[in-house]
Amino acid sequence: MGFEKFGRKSFTGITKTAKFVDFLEEGKVNGTVCKKCGAKYFPPRADCAACFSNEMDWFEMPKKGKLETYTIAYYAPFGFEADCPYTMGVAEFEGGLKLFARLSKDLKPEDINVGMDVSVKPVKYEDGQMSFEIVRA
Ligand SMILES: [Zn+2]
Repeated sequence: MGFEKFGRKSFTGITKTAKFVDFLEEGKVNGTVCKKCGAKYFPPRADCAACFSNEMDWFEMPKKGKLETYTIAYYAPFGFEADCPYTMGVAEFEGGLKLFARLSKDLKPEDINVGMDVSVKPVKYEDGQMSFEIVRA
């Protein structure tokens, strides 16, 4: 339990990777790494898709990434309407890890460029929900 605090809107409270939310509250954005074969996952997975092991450990996401693409949402799905407009993007981090997340509200559309250096950090919304967002590196 504990995962119900994750996301702008939470759709589940039950997952084997609920510790992810504890890490966010500690200021860390963590993925999981397989103890057997070393495969890394973000978002975190409880089981390895490469070797099917369930012996996973946590690692902190690399600090530097590059923005691969982004889009601005002017219409949102149910539950997210009040946040519009907001920007979402895909960033690639070292080791080939890709992360899909919202971009920080601090980043104005005219300041966002494909290829720019970015990082990822936890964010706590006004209602106490936790998530992570892409920020300028
Ligand atoms: Zn593995």
